[in-house]
Amino acid sequence: MNDVTPPDQIAFIDLARQQQALRGKIDAAVARVLDHGQYVMGPEVGALEQALAGFCGARHAITCASGTDALLLALMAEGLRPGDAVVVPSFTFCATAEMVCLLGGVPVFADVREDSFNLDPESLKAAVATAATLGLRLRGVISVDLFGQPCQYAAIEQVAHGNGLWLISDAAQSFGGSYGGRRVGRIGDITTTSFFPSKPLGCYGDGGAVFTDDDALAETIRSLRVHGQGRDKYDNVRVGINGRLDTIQAAILLEKLAIFPDELAAREAVAARYAAILPPEAVPPAVMDGTRSAWALYTIRTAPRDAAQQRLQRHGIPSMVYYRCPLHRQTAYRGFPVAGNGLPVSERLAETVLSLPMHPYLGPEDQARVAAALAVAD
Ligand SMILES: *Cc1c(COP(=O)(O)O)cnc(C)c1O
Repeated sequence: MNDVTPPDQIAFIDLARQQQALRGKIDAAVARVLDHGQYVMGPEVGALEQALAGFCGARHAITCASGTDALLLALMAEGLRPGDAVVVPSFTFCATAEMVCLLGGVPVFADVREDSFNLDPESLKAAVATAATLGLRLRGVISVDLFGQPCQYAAIEQVAHGNGLWLISDAAQSFGGSYGGRRVGRIGDITTTSFFPSKPLGCYGDGGAVFTDDDALAETIRSLRVHGQGRDKYDNVRVGINGRLDTIQAAILLEKLAIFPDELAAREAVAARYAAILPPEAVPPAVMDGTRSAWALYTIRTAPRDAAQQRLQRHGIPSMVYYRCPLHRQTAYRGFPVAGNGLPVSERLAETVLSLPMHPYLGPEDQARVAAALAVAD
C-alpha cells in the first residue's frame, strides 16, 4: 500500500507525495528528538496530546502504540471481564472484535446499513435482545466509523445508553470527521483512533490515541498505558500494558497535524468528484445527514465486483476489497453469537464492495481514468 509508485501510475494511497511536501519539517522534527534523546514519553508526546485534544475538542487525548492498543485500553478502562458481552459490527477490521476476545469477552455481532456501511441501530437492538436470550452479561457497544464516515450516533447512543451500556467509538478510520457538530474524538464514552500510515492521520509506523471527556476514565487509561502505574512509580496499582507512542512518531504526527485540515478538505473534494463522475454501475457511498467523513477510503458497491476490479487492474488502477469476509464468517470468530437471524447485509457487502484510489493528492485526470475504466464493459 505504501510502495513507491512510478509517476505515471495511480497510487491507491499516495504517502510519497505527502512526504515530499513535509520532508524538511519531518527531518528537522526527528533530528530534534535525536538531539534531546527522550525517545520514550519525550516532550513531543505531551505536545501532541494537547494538539489532538485541541483539534477535536475532547477533554483528554491519550496517545498509545496503535489503534488496536487504543481499543484494548478502552475496554480495560471500562472494566471488561471474562464472559462480558459487547456488541460489535461484523463488517469491520478484525481488531474491533479481537480486543474483546483477548480480554475473554464475547462479541455479539450486529449488521450494518448497506448505504453507509455503518452499524445499523435496528440490528443493534436485535443484538441486545439476542444477548438477553442467551443470558449474556452485556456491558457495551463498539461502533465503527467505517471508511471514515461517523455512524448515525443519535440512534446508537439512544439504544446503548437506554440499555445501560457504555459506548466505545472505534474511529480508527474517521479521525478528522464529525457528526452533528461534534468532532470525532468527542463521540461515545471513549473514542479510539489509529495512526497507522494509511489512515487519514498516519505516522511512520504504528500509533494510536484514546479520547474521553471523563476524568476518571482518562486517569485509568494513562495508568493502564504504562503497566498500571500509580502516583508512585514503584507501586503499580493495576495490571496494564506497555502501550506508549514513541516520541519520534509524536514528532512526525505534530508536523502532519499542521496540514491535516487542508488534507481533509482535499479528500472531500476528491470524494465529491468521484460522486459526480462515476458510472451508474458504481454505487457511491451514501453521505449521511449531519456527518463529515474523513474519507479514509472511497468504497463503492458494484456487481459483479471481481470483474470490475480486474478491469481496473488491466487499466493499471489499483483497488482493494475491504472487507472480503465479515468477522462472523472468519475462523477465529465463527463461534460467537450474531444478532437476530443472521447478518445478510454484511455478507452481501463482502461480495460487492470495492475501494478505489483515495488520497488528498489525487487529481481530476486520474479520477477520470478510474471512472472510465469502471464504465468500460468488456
Ligand atoms: C486500522 C483499524 C484498527 C487498528 O488500528 P492499528 O493501528 O492498525 O492497530 C482498528 N479498527 C479499525 C476499524 C481499523 O480500521
